[in-house]
Amino acid sequence: MVDVSALRELRGVAVEGDFFRIGGLTTWSEVIRAPLPRCFDALKSAAREVGSVQIQNRGTVAGNLCNASPAADGVPPLLALDAEVELVSNAGSRRMKLENFIVGNRKTERRADEILAAVLMPRGLGGAASVFLKLGARRYLVISIAMVAAVVAVDGGGRISEARIAVGSCSAAARRLRNLESALAGADVRSGIDGLVKPEHLSSLSPINDVRATAEYRMDAARTLVERALKACVGAT
Ligand SMILES: Cc1cc2nc3c(=O)[nH]c(=O)nc-3n(C[C@H](O)[C@H](O)[C@H](O)COP(=O)(O)OP(=O)(O)OC[C@H]3O[C@@H](n4cnc5c(N)ncnc54)[C@H](O)[C@@H]3O)c2cc1C
Repeated sequence: MVDVSALRELRGVAVEGDFFRIGGLTTWSEVIRAPLPRCFDALKSAAREVGSVQIQNRGTVAGNLCNASPAADGVPPLLALDAEVELVSNAGSRRMKLENFIVGNRKTERRADEILAAVLMPRGLGGAASVFLKLGARRYLVISIAMVAAVVAVDGGGRISEARIAVGSCSAAARRLRNLESALAGADVRSGIDGLVKPEHLSSLSPINDVRATAEYRMDAARTLVERALKACVGAT
């Protein structure tokens, strides 16, 4: 067993070239307090939902990702930020998209000798609106039934220039809704987003029945949360 908790160089938030870098050992409380641009609002909202304040003070970003729970609150907002993970071992370091790193329920591409040193997010969409919505059976200290993170940039003419939407707890690993993202690109949202989200845009999800909800309920909840998240993003631009 290796205790990595004292490695200070794996902690903190910084700008590194074209990327924001969040050290793997950064706690959720540190993410909440970090001076980050608007597109990180969803990540900060998710950080506030990780268990309780005590858990947020101890739990780290790397732990949340390496644990690879389908219900990990940190994953959808980081997917929507197009995050990459940096993995380090004695053999060197490598980077991969978070989307490719978490491959299933509790399954990642991390090799046994690697630690997750950092997550890196491209700086491009800094000013875009972002929202995280989590549905659980109660308000606090809850594992989600469904959750959605959205990062949406709208141009001066009221058209969506880029939308990134990720859904968690509705498949073995959280997923980006690429078909919806493509459908939204260029959409005029001056009069709202009604009718833009269609059932087929969620077809990549594969929710399960469990003690928290049925698959059907999860699908319905995911669609409602996606619509609410988009409305909130567009209304905030
Ligand atoms: C009471 C309670 C409530 C919780 N509620 C929520 C919740 O609502 N939402 C949510 O998303 N999570 C929740 N969690 C889980 C929490 O998010 C994680 O425990 C935390 O983020 C993980 O961070 P950690 O540093 O404690 O990791 P650990 O628990 O120490 O590690 C988790 C896994 O990741 C590995 N790991 C950790 N760091 C690294 C690294 N740098 N490199 C490689 N592997 C690493 C460990 O070996 C282990 O396999 C809850 C946990 C508790 C105990």
